[in-house]
Amino acid sequence: MNHEASRSLYDRALSVMPGGVNSSVRAAPQPYPIFVDHGDGGHVVDADGNRYIDWIQGLGPLLLGHDMPEKLQAAIQSRAAEGPMYGMPSEIEVEHAEFVCRHVPGVEMIRFVNSGTEATVSACRLARAVTGRDKIVIMQGGYHGAQESTLVEGDADGTEPSSPGVPQAFAENTVPVPFNDPEAAEAAFEKHGEDIAAVLVEPVQANMGIVYPVDGYHGMLRNLCDEHGSLLIFDEVITGFRVGGLGCAQSEFDVDPDLTTFGKIIGGGFPVGAIGGKTEYIEQFTPSGDVFQAGTFSGNPVTMAAGLETLRFCAENDVYEHVNGLGRQLREGLSEIVADYAPEYTVVGSDSFFKLVFTRCDGEPQGESCRNGCRQDPDCDRYGGCPKRGTDIYRAETDRYARLFRPAMREQGILVSQNQFESNFVS
Ligand code: PMP
Repeated sequence: MNHEASRSLYDRALSVMPGGVNSSVRAAPQPYPIFVDHGDGGHVVDADGNRYIDWIQGLGPLLLGHDMPEKLQAAIQSRAAEGPMYGMPSEIEVEHAEFVCRHVPGVEMIRFVNSGTEATVSACRLARAVTGRDKIVIMQGGYHGAQESTLVEGDADGTEPSSPGVPQAFAENTVPVPFNDPEAAEAAFEKHGEDIAAVLVEPVQANMGIVYPVDGYHGMLRNLCDEHGSLLIFDEVITGFRVGGLGCAQSEFDVDPDLTTFGKIIGGGFPVGAIGGKTEYIEQFTPSGDVFQAGTFSGNPVTMAAGLETLRFCAENDVYEHVNGLGRQLREGLSEIVADYAPEYTVVGSDSFFKLVFTRCDGEPQGESCRNGCRQDPDCDRYGGCPKRGTDIYRAETDRYARLFRPAMREQGILVSQNQFESNFVS
């Protein structure tokens, strides 16, 4: 494959953008990332005219792929033509909010913002304000965007910022615990319970492999939060409108979070985020309450039209049946290949996302919540060897990813997520 145009764009980009990109993971495929010219259905075509099967799908937002249904295209184009934004409210925001509140069980009210990061920042501020407490419990191996409260590593006994520039004071107010470990969560509450504003958790860890909750884990977190007067925040930036369909992961796991953060799919491919939840909390945002929250572009009409039409399309067509079926087919096929050629590895995922991780756990069946059907463990017809914690993936043979997937797969016209840890998506 010829990559001259991508290589030369990267050279130019390196002199005007840090690392040549606008989001760090995009430069992971070295010696240079490919530069995209355009999307086409489930494919993208790069600046040199090479065509790839695209399993990145925008890192999650493009549930319908790169070809938008006609109605969606028309809605976006007419919105953009009518003046892309106003800094004043418009009907489409109300319609989108009504749609989300109607379908997501834990959402009675919603505030739209412009990214998943903005959503988790505001959710943390809201939880701190309504509880009068500062500490946020997060999961090791989780990701909640480029924000101070969560760019923190460590455990219940000690933390430090995971990036220069994050003040130590934030680290002191963040309590990372291992995912799927009820005792660790209980111990953290025993130690810090009086100071814990919220538990912030991805219902399925999707930024460090794909790791499913063990049965009852989220219910246990819900109880701990109730006992200690803390809020439970589900970060559904990835799982929202993907896992569990229009009801999102919270309906799939039958857990009722106080707050839910969204991003990706609800913007139909345009910049978006949102904080949804119980009226008693969401109403605390300004101007109905006094927890400051604002944004020039929030509720952008083009974004709202794209997001709402995407969700309506999902509601009116068998989108989830279709993409989840493709996801299952892909995971099963990959699992068979892995079983024959690399039984020490695991295919993970569910619904319409997947990942090959270069590790296995202890092979103990995980019960009903195991859904990806890796079929590698003869005693488990569900997900025997799935990793249980994001940190299991972190310790995997991650150097294999660079060798196998880049450039080998890329040279065969297949694009998978740029680093070992992020999910791949089916459209
Ligand atoms: N939360 C989760 C679970 C995410 O996966 C991400 C991004 N992948 C974010 C928050 C941050 O979203 P954004 O990149 O839109 O700021």
